[in-house]
Amino acid sequence: MQRLTHWIDGAARAPGRDHWLPVHEPATGAVYAEVAAGDAADIEAAITAAGRAAPAWAALPNSTRAAWLEKLAAALEARIDDFAHVEARDGGKPFALARDAEIPRAVANLRFFAHAATQFASESHHGEAGLNYTLRAPLGVVAAISPWNLPLYLFTWKIAPALAAGNTVVAKPSEITPASASLLATLSGEIGLPPGVLNVVHGIGAEVGDALIDDPRVRAVSFTGSTAVGRRIGARTGAQLKKASLELGGKNATLVFADSDWESHLATLVRSAFQNAGQICLCGSRMLVERSIYASFRERFVAEVLALQVGDPMDPDARMGPLVSQAHHDKVLAAIARARDEGGGVLCGGHALDRPGWFIAPTVIDGLGPDCATNRWEIFGPVVTLQPFDDDAHALALANAGEYGLSAALWTRDLTRAHRLAAALHVGMVWINTWLMRDLRTPFGGTGASGLGREGGMEAMRFFTEPKNIGLSL
Ligand code: NAD
Repeated sequence: MQRLTHWIDGAARAPGRDHWLPVHEPATGAVYAEVAAGDAADIEAAITAAGRAAPAWAALPNSTRAAWLEKLAAALEARIDDFAHVEARDGGKPFALARDAEIPRAVANLRFFAHAATQFASESHHGEAGLNYTLRAPLGVVAAISPWNLPLYLFTWKIAPALAAGNTVVAKPSEITPASASLLATLSGEIGLPPGVLNVVHGIGAEVGDALIDDPRVRAVSFTGSTAVGRRIGARTGAQLKKASLELGGKNATLVFADSDWESHLATLVRSAFQNAGQICLCGSRMLVERSIYASFRERFVAEVLALQVGDPMDPDARMGPLVSQAHHDKVLAAIARARDEGGGVLCGGHALDRPGWFIAPTVIDGLGPDCATNRWEIFGPVVTLQPFDDDAHALALANAGEYGLSAALWTRDLTRAHRLAAALHVGMVWINTWLMRDLRTPFGGTGASGLGREGGMEAMRFFTEPKNIGLSL
């Protein structure tokens, strides 16, 4: 059986304690590979290698680091199909989604931050307090911890700015979807990236996390994942006064106004709820619909959802695959049962598919208000609720209900309303008449239970550097 090893100091490395975890194929439920189950000793080896490589990597000209990232991007681009295949296999996402969107986006992340390495500049201030200029030095060794839902896309979103800014990295991908990060580590070896610059340690978060986060040589932690783990990491990094960027869960609202062109955008509205089986932090899981169109919207939306083809990730017609794991599948089914208990009406879906693998039919629920658990807690699956609203104030109150504050989408032709509501929504990102449109220069992240800090563009370059101000009297 295929074994996915760590990548430490420029070489594949078996786990020190020779312990391996099964890697499943969600479309069948079968185990198809094993991944290294790291421990504190493996983390120690990776941090030591990263620490050794750090001074030389930091001392490289920015353009040389940019060239390395370009080289890695080109190597990845040449193998997009292979990477899409491994992500379809261990994550269960449709192959076409990985090939056409997510892996190309990983290439774009590497290229974007290659350019950022050569464009990054620091501030200077000239005035009555003399001349001040700011140096921005790399931090040294940094940690990147990423989740299973967009494995390579989020892995590269972290390692690219960290490396571009001159840091060396110890990365911990999700143990549920380790294959693409493992393959990228191998590619970094093939292109000759200096040993120790990029290290990948696999394993269960709770078993390797503390050793990585608590090590004083690790100067910053960039984490994307659940709110519960994010809070835990935030508490530990806070106690050590260590930088942390926390990109956490969401319960995003999609606001559909009667004056919007919703009928011609139904496909996008459905995609915004069900892409990657709803396992994207930016999916809209609460559809808020103006009451005057509620009945017709519900009818058309449910019809469109019923037409969504669920199937094997390798089937070119499948728009939705299985959920990522047995545990997540069971959690989503429990959330649907809870919605029924709370009095919700299941308009379509609501059940597992009668076939091997972890498939759940796309599910639409209505009849529940903003205070119930179904509308407050993240489900992170193919489950969306519908709620009617009466006016702008009501829509805003529903959208802002709850602890999360990641993103929202507004569908209206009234631009004054759109801008007014966009400013009043308690979220980090708003889309108007679109969804998941991403400019990599913009700040990415959320408020409240959705996290702390922002990634993207210069925000990420600032996060991965330490500023030092120097003032002189003129
Ligand atoms: P998770 O928190 O269970 O795991 C994320 C990563 O953290 C994994 O690599 C895991 O091994 C590791 N981890 C787990 N426990 C740890 C610990 N104690 N110390 C250190 N690391 C630990 O999340 P998940 O289930 O993999 O991902 C789904 C979640 O991620 C959802 O809540 C989703 O909303 C969120 N997410 C957020 C964003 C965003 O940008 N805001 C993007 C994608 C996913």
